[in-house]
Amino acid sequence: MSEPFDVEGHELFVTCSIGIALYPRDGEDSQTLLKNADTALYRAKDLGRNNAQFYTAEMNVKAMERLMLENGLRHALERNEFLLHYQPQVDLRSGEITGMEALVRWQHPELGLVSPVRFIPVAEDSGLIISLGEWVLRTACAQNKAWQRAGLKPISVAVNLSARQFRQPNLVEMVAGILRETELDPAHLELELTESLVMQNIEVTIATLDRLKAMGIKLSIDDFGTGYSSLSYLKRFPIHTLKIDQSFVRDITTDPDDAAIAKAIISMAHDLQLRVIAEGVETEEQKSFLQQRHCDDMQGFFFSKPVPAEDFEVLLRERRCLQMADSTAALGQRTLLLLDDEENILTSLTRLLRRDGYEILKATSAAAAFDLLAGHPVGVIISDQRMPEMNGTEFLRRVKQIYPDTVRMVLSGYTDLKSVTDAINEGAVYKFLTKPWDDDLLRANIQEAFQRYELAQDNQRLSNEMASINEELNRAKRELEKRVEQKASEARHNVGVLQISQEMLEYLSVGVIGVGEDGLIAVANRKANELFDVEKRQPLVGCFALERLPAAMIECLAGAGERRSQRLENGRNVIFWSHAMGASSGSEGRVLVIVPNEESGD
Ligand code: C2E
Ligand code: CA
Ligand code: CA
Repeated sequence: MSEPFDVEGHELFVTCSIGIALYPRDGEDSQTLLKNADTALYRAKDLGRNNAQFYTAEMNVKAMERLMLENGLRHALERNEFLLHYQPQVDLRSGEITGMEALVRWQHPELGLVSPVRFIPVAEDSGLIISLGEWVLRTACAQNKAWQRAGLKPISVAVNLSARQFRQPNLVEMVAGILRETELDPAHLELELTESLVMQNIEVTIATLDRLKAMGIKLSIDDFGTGYSSLSYLKRFPIHTLKIDQSFVRDITTDPDDAAIAKAIISMAHDLQLRVIAEGVETEEQKSFLQQRHCDDMQGFFFSKPVPAEDFEVLLRERRCLQMADSTAALGQRTLLLLDDEENILTSLTRLLRRDGYEILKATSAAAAFDLLAGHPVGVIISDQRMPEMNGTEFLRRVKQIYPDTVRMVLSGYTDLKSVTDAINEGAVYKFLTKPWDDDLLRANIQEAFQRYELAQDNQRLSNEMASINEELNRAKRELEKRVEQKASEARHNVGVLQISQEMLEYLSVGVIGVGEDGLIAVANRKANELFDVEKRQPLVGCFALERLPAAMIECLAGAGERRSQRLENGRNVIFWSHAMGASSGSEGRVLVIVPNEESGD
């Protein structure tokens, strides 16, 4: 089946899903065998198609459950068995609730509260998601409006849209209808779409998103980081928010890869002028980590689980806020982290170092140390080498990736030269200190490590300042270039006007001669040159008026400029007069106008 088929010259690729039932294990008669093979086939399709599955009894249980859920779902809407829970989203700067996500629940008469993880896929497959989704949207919008009418702080409600809902043909009209009906301001509705959803049928998706955005609705990308977003598309989506997927948040303070991904998503979102929210935040440490990396908002059990509407209303009414522990120590405070699995070592180190004025944090395990790092501005770390769950160099290697600015040292009696030199060579460890230690030497080393840390911080600050100054300079330079370009284009325009004026002069049947203050002829049109027989002589322009024009004309140029007549050397009679320039230009020269006086000719 993996070979393409040739159909009238077209290559067709076909995939095949296979369900297998075996006699006699899976059935004694053909009917049972076929039914079970069919169940296995459905499983194969569920697993993404194009594979083969053997029937197992457990599949039957799953299939039965699914069937039961599907039947139950058909009636659940009429029987009012669905309800919404709301989970607050809080601003990591102010700590205030700024939004909520509506999450559907199914109160099943026998199974109790069923998780959407179980029934949403069934609702999707059976198409019931369309009516269920509409109910969720209507209920969430109506609830939000009701809270606003009750005078509670206006916030946004986020509603999830699954792929099938998003592709329904009248989606935009449906959403618009519900907004009208519930009278909720579209700015207070946010629709959550998963990353994998928006990456299919990109052009159609963008068109739909544009229409939703034009209505004033906000759009967010859910589970961001789990799909394969093409960044160039991301730029084209009219979205407002990226939601960092829970799977990156879980180990954000201990796994350098997750930390790096979260950091990258935050800075990319901000570069694209998007809001970024982290989901599944469960601990103080995760919150601090995200806060320090300027993530805008968070959502998760650390602040609140999804709760029924009554409980959410209490949160809003009491203006419940995220407690803002001021982990930002006073400026100049030196924070030292000590990690050793032996409690007594930590105690004696603390006793020794206390007098140097450090804020000292102590941990007996790497996990605890990561938690402390997430919540405090640690400058210097001293770690034991030999510890049960992770050795010191490995710990510091990870710390280096997550907190590269820290100065990291190992304090150990155990010397495995190879691992130590490796760690030092790759920059994970700054110094290796030996146990038992010399008090003064250790103190001096720590002092020096802090100086090193502070120097690096100063450098960092300076280079940030330099970068912003450079940015400023570049802006000024761009501004200047723009002005110069403007001037140049004005100048080009002026030159153009000048050329046109000169060309127009050429068509006049009177001679025009312009003489500068310096007495040089600056302008002479064709008629003027013709009157002075220039074909045989040097052109007028560039000569001194005194050398080329008759005395009467020079007099006229210097004087009041009234009309006179004259017979030129070549015998032609002319009338001429002059004007002073400067009425509408900056010129201080004079113009001589010469008209052939043919009637009085000889
Ligand atoms: P989701 O959109 O990613 O929703 C977040 C899920 O994470 C919710 O699970 C929420 O209860 C859970 N959660 C929130 N904070 C934490 C935390 O700190 N730790 C942990 N471990 N989990 C946390 P829930 O409510 O079971 O919903 C599961 C999924 O079902 C949702 O994932 C969403 O994809 C889908 N879903 C829920 N309601 C709807 C709906 O109305 N329509 C559609 N289409 N899908 C929905
Ligand atoms: Ca969601
Ligand atoms: Ca999510």
